[in-house]
Amino acid sequence: MTGASEFDLIAKYFAPLAGAGAFELQDDAATIAARPGTDLVVTTDTLIAGVDFFEGDPPESIARKALRVNLSDLAAKGAEPWGYLLSLSLPGLDEAWLDAFARGLQDDQERFEIVLLGGDTGATPGPLSVAITAFGHVPEGQMIRRGSAWAGNLVFVTGTIGDSGGGLALLKGDGGALDAAHRNVLIDRYRLPDPPVALGPSLRRFASAAIDVSDGLLADLGHVAEASGMRIIVEGPSVPRSPALEALWGGDIVRAATAGDDYQIAFTAPARHEAAILEAGRDAGTRITRIGRVEAGAGIVLLDAQGHEVEVARKGFTHF
Ligand code: ADP
Ligand code: MG
Repeated sequence: MTGASEFDLIAKYFAPLAGAGAFELQDDAATIAARPGTDLVVTTDTLIAGVDFFEGDPPESIARKALRVNLSDLAAKGAEPWGYLLSLSLPGLDEAWLDAFARGLQDDQERFEIVLLGGDTGATPGPLSVAITAFGHVPEGQMIRRGSAWAGNLVFVTGTIGDSGGGLALLKGDGGALDAAHRNVLIDRYRLPDPPVALGPSLRRFASAAIDVSDGLLADLGHVAEASGMRIIVEGPSVPRSPALEALWGGDIVRAATAGDDYQIAFTAPARHEAAILEAGRDAGTRITRIGRVEAGAGIVLLDAQGHEVEVARKGFTHF
């Protein structure tokens, strides 16, 4: 397609992804039918080339990562995915790239049962930017908040922590000797996070507070502690790490717990729910590990194997 306008691109690549209410992306706006008795949960996240992914990453994985970093927020809030808006700022027009990008979206739309509702497409003199705003449903008033952890609650986390950070270190050439299989596991996880979307809605039954782990486990649990007016204790050796990450970083728990980009869920829950939580994890195919507890007080504390507090200067990623 030479001389394609953005409207041609939208019709060709994005209209096939559109869901009910989007009018085949031929109107100015879409509608979302109100569902009585539910709240619409709304979240947005932007990925920028050179900051959140590498410009040369496969377009399928850029698309899927952009969607998944939003799906992890919905899951952490206990929401069921519904739809999303996509704002693309393109440094140039490359149809093969767009075609692959749209296929990546299509794959994950099917996997996570979410549809495209609209967006915006334009050119930019800057780097490629992919901004997604996602919507999901929870029963009215039941979105899981950050600020409702309570003393005596246990702390849990899904998946394994630090893999994506390890993958990023490898892509930056900061790896040492690591065999190809481990290397690929970590790099794949950086390019394509695996948020526990299926678990999200069942968390509403147990979780007192939850957050998606994007900046770093300690930084994000620090947000929960602060919003809740509580102190959170993390037992370092309990933090789940993959064999690939252990091959890369050995026993360096601080590095794993501050690396970020995990897109797993950290949550707190009353201790009496522990068995049911682990069972819900098995049902959803998601590993869930108990990593600590909530106490009266303030701040986030990491303990080593001897139960001594580990000094952590930088608890996670910050942009500025
Ligand atoms: P204009 O910017 O000229 O007003 P619009 O932004 O209204 O055009 O886009 C026309 C239609 O195409 C709208 O329905 C909009 O939601 C949709 N759209 C534009 N870009 C995208 C995109 N990247 N993904 C999905 N839908 C898009
Ligand atoms: Mg527009």
